[in-house]
Amino acid sequence: MIITAQDLYNYSKCAHRVYLDAHGNFSERAKVSAFVRLLWEMGLQTEREYIRALGDGDYDNLQALRTLKLMTAGAELIFQGVIRAGHWLGRPDLLIKRTDARSHLGDHYYEPIEIKAGRGWEERDGKRTGFKAHYAFQILFYRKILQQLQGHLPSVGHVINVDMEMEEFEASAFESAFEQALAEVERLVAGAETSEPVLGSVCHLCHWYPRCRRWVEGTGDPSGLYFVGKQKFDLKRVGLSNIREIAVMDIGQYLRPPNKIPRMGEKALVRMKTRAQVKLAGRPQIRAGYAFPENRREIYFDIEDDPTRDLTYLFGLVTRDATGRGDFRYFIARTPQQEEEVVREFWEFVRATDDAVFYVYSAKERATLKRLMQRYQLDQAVYDRYLEYEYDLYSDLVVKYSDWPTYSYGIKQIASFVGFKWRDPDPSGANSIVWYNEYLNDGSAQLLARILDYNEDDCRAMMAVKDHFALHSLTSTAVPVAG
Ligand code: SF4
Repeated sequence: MIITAQDLYNYSKCAHRVYLDAHGNFSERAKVSAFVRLLWEMGLQTEREYIRALGDGDYDNLQALRTLKLMTAGAELIFQGVIRAGHWLGRPDLLIKRTDARSHLGDHYYEPIEIKAGRGWEERDGKRTGFKAHYAFQILFYRKILQQLQGHLPSVGHVINVDMEMEEFEASAFESAFEQALAEVERLVAGAETSEPVLGSVCHLCHWYPRCRRWVEGTGDPSGLYFVGKQKFDLKRVGLSNIREIAVMDIGQYLRPPNKIPRMGEKALVRMKTRAQVKLAGRPQIRAGYAFPENRREIYFDIEDDPTRDLTYLFGLVTRDATGRGDFRYFIARTPQQEEEVVREFWEFVRATDDAVFYVYSAKERATLKRLMQRYQLDQAVYDRYLEYEYDLYSDLVVKYSDWPTYSYGIKQIASFVGFKWRDPDPSGANSIVWYNEYLNDGSAQLLARILDYNEDDCRAMMAVKDHFALHSLTSTAVPVAG
């Protein structure tokens, strides 16, 4: 039984993943996706997989002994050392020697530092909103191992962020949540607790996805409904253990004790019941009340970015005018250094665009543009114009005015449902990042074409969804929401 910082990270996304990684039947695991392999290569997701890939416990022991020897000898800096205390095993990116306190090692001790591809402190409107818990947990885990090895703990934690800056956080702010998470990870890895699958967006990158999907579909688990996720445990507690029960529930019963469901009012329950009915019927339900901007040029817009490099590499647009033709154009950074040049070109494109609507399928575009505006001090008036023209098909249309028999309302699920097909046999944003990284290595024209085709198809998928709703409003009357 080995516990790594990766287990704590996985736990923050899905407790069942921790259980399955320790006790699941490996023959049921899907192939590790190309994107996850890319993350391994970049050192962003390592330990348990790394250890499994090596398949050799002796190697860890040897490395742990070597690292301890270096620590005892007082090496100034240890890069990717292995630290081990009992069944806790870690590979901090850096161990830095500090001399402001004594430890079992002598007049010095070591502090673990992680090198991250993102930023630890999250910000909104220029103000810090909090330090990322999963970064903090990783450092706290290494500190815990080091405490056993050297008998000393520094009070603050550090990570080196994507801008090569040292970021600091107070370890005490995370200690109680960390201890709670570690205790549960211990139980899951020991097999004392099993947890259950919870289908959600994190599942797409998980090698247990086919297994969990089968289980959820087979049992009619509530997490097979859009937007239920971890709340399924609250539903099960009051006896709503599958989708059939949700579809026929008497809502009034669940609005007051003893069956009151935390954080769910009448509106949310009505919506969930409708989704359960839609799921069982296998047909979407579209409600009246939506409208699209009139007399405007339609621009279907999709950004591709690579969070592992904190890089936005593609702005793709399909423009449809009154004649109904849809032309694809794009702005692409052929090297990471071209990001600024490309975003400036895009800014000029927006500045010159009049009387248009930018259809997108997430809040990501607006958030990315804002971040890039701040990064490169771009003209805010252009950003404001973009906001004025933007229409988010996901939150302003699909989520608000319809329900679908799918557990996710992502563009892939919804556009596929209305008959749209991607040209690529394996289309996904994660794969686009992999292709882009390969393209940076070998400059292949085929890869570039694949990236662009995928992005164009995402734009055209949005168009298909918008057209489906437009046609529906012409051909039907309102369908009442189930009560
Ligand atoms: S597929 Fe989803 S539910 Fe299953 S283990 Fe992975 S993250 Fe958890």
